[in-house]
This record gives sequence, structure tokens and C-alpha cells, in this order.
Amino acid sequence: MDFAYDDQNIFAKILRGEIPNDTVFENDHALAFRDIQPQAPVHVLVIPKGPYVSMDHFARDASAEEQAGFFAAVAAVCDSEGVEDGFRAISNTRAHGVQEVPHFHLHILGGRPMGRMLS
Ligand code: 5GP
Repeated sequence: MDFAYDDQNIFAKILRGEIPNDTVFENDHALAFRDIQPQAPVHVLVIPKGPYVSMDHFARDASAEEQAGFFAAVAAVCDSEGVEDGFRAISNTRAHGVQEVPHFHLHILGGRPMGRMLS
């Protein structure tokens, strides 16, 4: 699997500060910000700061420290966003997953019942 990274993708530009974002949480290894087209009352994207195109790329090549930092950001978002009743986490991947932005991101959706979704 070739995980070539395009540093002109929109989330790379957000990480470089070239495009503004509504930050929810940030640490050394991850940034969490609100989706520009929210699909639920809570719709936050958590992204690693490193150049990873997808979850499988991140799982394979990111260091333990980067992975811990990423999941610390996920935990911080869950704490701050009031999703005690639950949430959905989605990572759309490549063509079949209908991934729009080729920088690994985890959607965290909550604030309402999500409905059954397996496709
Ligand atoms: P996916 O790649 O998983 O299909 O979705 C990419 C997500 O990024 C979409 O939900 C879209 O609304 C969001 N998005 C695209 N461009 C921007 C942007 O410039 N800022 C923010 N905050 N979100 C964006």
C-alpha cells in the first residue's frame, strides 16, 4: 500500500495556519476542530499533526507517542463536548469510504441519536 501524502490538502493547510479553524483542542500531536458543515449538534474532526493519509496509514506508521497524543485529543473532545449519552466516530477511507480530504481524520458526531448506520 502506497500512502503518498499530498501536503496541499485542506487539513495540511489548516495545520500550517493557512486556513482558519474553530479549534476545540490541541496538543503536540493532534488538533481537534469543528467541521465546517456539521452533520450533528456535535461534529468535531480530530486529526494527527503528522502526514498520514488514512487511519490504516496512521496505525501502521505513526509512533506510539503520536498515537497516544491523537487518542488523548479524542478523549479531551469527548470530555468537553458533552457526549455522555454517546457519539459516533467515523473515519472515511479512500474511494470506497468516500474520503474527501486525504489527511487522516476522525469524525466525532454527537448531541443527538444517530440512527442505525452500517453502510
Ligand atoms: P471526509 O474526508 O471524511 O469525507 O470528510 C471531510 C470533512 O471535512 C467534511 O465533513 C467537510 O465538511 C470537512 N471540511 C472540508 N473542508 C473543511 C474546512 O476547510 N474546514 C473545516 N473545519 N472542515 C472542512
